[in-house]
Amino acid sequence: MKILKSIKEYIDSFLYLFYPELCIVCNKNDREVNDTFCLECYSELPFTNQTTIPKNQFIQHFEGKIKIEHGAALFYFVKQGIVQNIIQNLKYNDKPQYGVKMGEIFGYSIKDNSYFLNIDMIVPVPLFKSKETARGYNQSLKFAEGISKVTSIPIVKNNLIRIRHTDTQTKMNRVQRLENLYDAFSVLEPKTFENKHILIVDDVLTTGATLLECGNQIMKVKKTKISMATIAMGQQMS
Ligand SMILES: [Zn+2]
Repeated sequence: MKILKSIKEYIDSFLYLFYPELCIVCNKNDREVNDTFCLECYSELPFTNQTTIPKNQFIQHFEGKIKIEHGAALFYFVKQGIVQNIIQNLKYNDKPQYGVKMGEIFGYSIKDNSYFLNIDMIVPVPLFKSKETARGYNQSLKFAEGISKVTSIPIVKNNLIRIRHTDTQTKMNRVQRLENLYDAFSVLEPKTFENKHILIVDDVLTTGATLLECGNQIMKVKKTKISMATIAMGQQMS
């Protein structure tokens, strides 16, 4: 299986070299819709379409936990679906450009959108340094770069930092996740955030523990407001 997989990857990257205009999901069809997807794959993308909906699912998820001005995910995360494929490639297959592309698509949906007005800066959820070095990039920063490219909102990347390495959270329940992340983040220069409306961005919203902890740290700074955005979110969220 593993060999087959690497052969497939080899062929894919070979194809990409000669046909860079192919769709990033299926590697077959021409990119008909934009410079990322073919029409077929694009039409199957599970857009949440919630950037202009007040009190949407994303915001409800944080209700009673933290005050956010606005929030939205670009897609729903469907297991075995296109979005899972994109996220996996972004995180584990050295495809930072996928994050930038998703950021651009999201950027167009919040540009001139009254719910995302007056955002002063974009702050990506930081990775612990050793993890970022191993991966070669921070996938949330890549998403931020795409949003910034379209909206011209600046990114502030080294002011919210991860000060403690956290265990992988996949097998933890909500309480364990919160404990695991408690005090994992810190703001270096509070002055930079003071009086600012900050858009915190991450790759996927699952329990929301990471975004919540980042938000809590930022809101310790005087007069900050926060909004949040992710590439994907789970479909059924409590
Ligand atoms: Zn396609």
